[in-house]
Amino acid sequence: MFTSKALLAASRRPGLRRFVTGNPATRHVVDRFVAGETLADALAAVRALHADGIDVTLDHLGEDITDRAEAERTRDAYLTLLQGLAPLGLGRGAEVSVKLSAFGQALPEGGTDLALELVRPVVEAASAIGTTLTLDMEDHRTVDSTLAVLADLRKEHPDTGAVLQAALFRTEDDAKALAVTGSRVRLVKGAYDEPPTVAHQKKKDVDAAYARCLEILMAGPGYPMVGSHDPELIRLAHELAAQNSRAADSWEVQMLYGIRPDEQRRLAAAGTRVRAYVPYGIDWYAYFMRRLAERPANVRFFLRSLVTKS
Ligand SMILES: Cc1cc2nc3c(=O)[nH]c(=O)nc-3n(C[C@H](O)[C@H](O)[C@H](O)COP(=O)(O)OP(=O)(O)OC[C@H]3O[C@@H](n4cnc5c(N)ncnc54)[C@H](O)[C@@H]3O)c2cc1C
Repeated sequence: MFTSKALLAASRRPGLRRFVTGNPATRHVVDRFVAGETLADALAAVRALHADGIDVTLDHLGEDITDRAEAERTRDAYLTLLQGLAPLGLGRGAEVSVKLSAFGQALPEGGTDLALELVRPVVEAASAIGTTLTLDMEDHRTVDSTLAVLADLRKEHPDTGAVLQAALFRTEDDAKALAVTGSRVRLVKGAYDEPPTVAHQKKKDVDAAYARCLEILMAGPGYPMVGSHDPELIRLAHELAAQNSRAADSWEVQMLYGIRPDEQRRLAAAGTRVRAYVPYGIDWYAYFMRRLAERPANVRFFLRSLVTKS
């Protein structure tokens, strides 16, 4: 059977990429996880979620670009996205998430500086329409660089958000450092295949680390964003929020577009602030493969779609 390690490794093979992206039957499965390829598709998803009381964070898909021109195109795509969001007047109800690798972070010379230079105007444009930006976290080699960019951005925009991955051994310390006033931190389990030298390998150890980090964030004065679909962790988040006398608007649950949508609506209707992470764009392959890797049932669903006409 498929392991998540095998799937994440396979996702880096160009032949498989060509097969998956070139296969019309794939579209049906991709639509479950991706809001569409255009800005208009993304804005339609934002309106539908808003009607159900669900906030959004939008991700213009793309990562691991190879030159400055591509990084500038990422910046421009986000500026266009923010222009598109402005007339909806949702303020913080619609924020954006970015991957710094799409802003040039991994380029060999001065990648961190380039990413900071290009992401700054996006943070400023978000702020100008009353919303914020969150820096997604990629594999463990990027954490120091991403937290350095965060620290710089937070000097003028202290509500710029960060993501911490419970799987990494370092994350409890990072959570302590970021549990400060005004700081928005999305805690996730971690979607990358990390070596045993830096990360927990067993699900039960990742879950226990998540619980410890959540305790730190919930007890601090910052704004925790509970990025998980795991029912046990969502329950724990509510328990910790109550224990720490947190107001309903002082933390939120975040889930991915298309995953447990009924639960997203149920939580929102019951008074929890819920935000869906809405990816859109043509470069959906890497994002899609990570979603398959998280759940064997998704792979079966995908393989069935390749052999049926639905
Ligand atoms: C809003 C948000 C933003 C994220 N940002 C990042 C990031 O910046 N960096 C990063 O490394 N990771 C990120 N992730 C991914 C995260 O690290 C996990 O890989 C992912 O959320 C699965 O973990 P889980 O907490 O949902 O728990 P799991 O134990 O994986 O899942 C719990 C339950 O959720 C459901 N579920 C989970 N995943 C799926 C799926 N793919 N398809 C269908 N059902 C599913 C199932 O019912 C499962 O039993 C993000 C996740 C969310 C929700």
